[in-house]
Amino acid sequence: LYRFAGEARNNSMGANLSNDDTLAALADQINAAVKPWAATPLVPGANPSGAAIAVSNPADRRQRIGEWTPADAATVEQALKNAVAAHEGWDSTPAASRAAILEHAADQLEKRMPEFIALCVKEAGKSLSASVAEVREAVDFLRYYALKAREQFGQPIPLPGPTGESNQLSLHGRGVFVCISPWNFPLAIYLGQIAAALASGNAVIAKPAEQTTLTAFVATRLLHEAGVPKDVLQFLPGDGATVGAALTRDLRVDGVCFTGSTETAWAINRALAGRNGPIAALIAETGGQNALIADSSALPEQLVKDAIASAFDSAGQRCSAARVLFVQADIADKVVKMLAGAMDELVVGDPALLSTDVGPVIDEDARKVLVEHAARMDREATPIKAVTLPEATAHGSFFAPRAYEIASLSQLQREVFGPVLHVIRWKADELDAVLDAINATGYGLTLGIHSRIDSTIARIAARVKVGNCYVNRNQIGAVVGVQPFGGEGLSGTGPKAGGPHYLLRFATERTMTVNT
Ligand code: GLU
Repeated sequence: LYRFAGEARNNSMGANLSNDDTLAALADQINAAVKPWAATPLVPGANPSGAAIAVSNPADRRQRIGEWTPADAATVEQALKNAVAAHEGWDSTPAASRAAILEHAADQLEKRMPEFIALCVKEAGKSLSASVAEVREAVDFLRYYALKAREQFGQPIPLPGPTGESNQLSLHGRGVFVCISPWNFPLAIYLGQIAAALASGNAVIAKPAEQTTLTAFVATRLLHEAGVPKDVLQFLPGDGATVGAALTRDLRVDGVCFTGSTETAWAINRALAGRNGPIAALIAETGGQNALIADSSALPEQLVKDAIASAFDSAGQRCSAARVLFVQADIADKVVKMLAGAMDELVVGDPALLSTDVGPVIDEDARKVLVEHAARMDREATPIKAVTLPEATAHGSFFAPRAYEIASLSQLQREVFGPVLHVIRWKADELDAVLDAINATGYGLTLGIHSRIDSTIARIAARVKVGNCYVNRNQIGAVVGVQPFGGEGLSGTGPKAGGPHYLLRFATERTMTVNT
């Protein structure tokens, strides 16, 4: 409940949901909103055929919640043709009109919150508090990019005319943008990418993660109902190897916005570069190996509370999540003990229940990777705590939150995308070595600092190359327009989602000079 209220307060640009009565009423509405959802490609002129894929609830695999039909090759081709034809009309629609449609969609999304919360809970296994925050973030993205479109695309920028000519700079959509979104934010990132591309005047082909196709389908329909033309926004569900690869190698694609793994971002980059055609824009937001550094001046209670939220909220399935807690040796025993105690209090279970802190992971593949990691850690590290899974989780893709003490960051070869926190102790003279090790991972997404010494905070922040640095708080839940989000190096290309420069990467600039 605390986290719900906190997130709701953080995401204050959207609806107002903040007390216990509202929560209880919401839980009833959410249950009522669950239905057997069914999704198909939304591509005017196509007749998608093929076998439907069943979708089950990650918290209980026996529950079937819907089904979807993947796009075939002919549907992909039709979508590309439609998008090319639709771009010009959409780009010449005034930015204020495009913005008004996105704002209308935000209003509708707020009105239909229970349905979208139900989708996030039942399809992605997100806890109620995380699902509420997710819908609110989606609303924020729609409104924020609408605002930026009015500001940045509304009027050309007048330029100086020292040569006696009149000069101006205007922004336009690049053309056809492909948005490839992840399952961990099935609504917020899905709609955020699309809203940015549409606000900037692009025709959009949206390819959501297979695991959360139903949520994306219902969200696409909402945008269509709000006024986005059906050929301007097309929905192309399918797997990355067929649909994603067919789109990214096609010369008609002018830009790709991708959130997911670093490996997939490399593959998209290679595909775009191998086309020998127009040089496409790539906006990639990828993984992290995020650290939380605590020195001996940190307040242990606050540190543990923030470490728990950063590592285990959303079952650790956030790219912003803390993976490694570097704690100064002087306070390490105390912090480790408190961490183990706090983990004992975590309630793992059905994400539809208000009392649940940690829900399932997304699917069995994800669970297997985590089980393998835990087996290696059990051999190579010192276990601090493994939360016991309640019996009620037996039919879901659950993985119990764990913490391990490790000797060095080199024991983690890659990002562990789940509820596992690793703890490393450091001595006073080792701070620079810690910072070197963090930078040496090549990732640069989030960093947490817990310290009450200003010069230490400044020293760490100056040296660690990350996109989002959080001091004396948790390191998750970036708020749209307030904490623009995105990393550097292996963590992404920028510009930051929910930041003032995001739309510019979706645009092309044109200078107009008139001899007067
Ligand atoms: N923006 C989210 C956060 O700040 C993370 C997004 C992601 O996992 O891709 O927690």
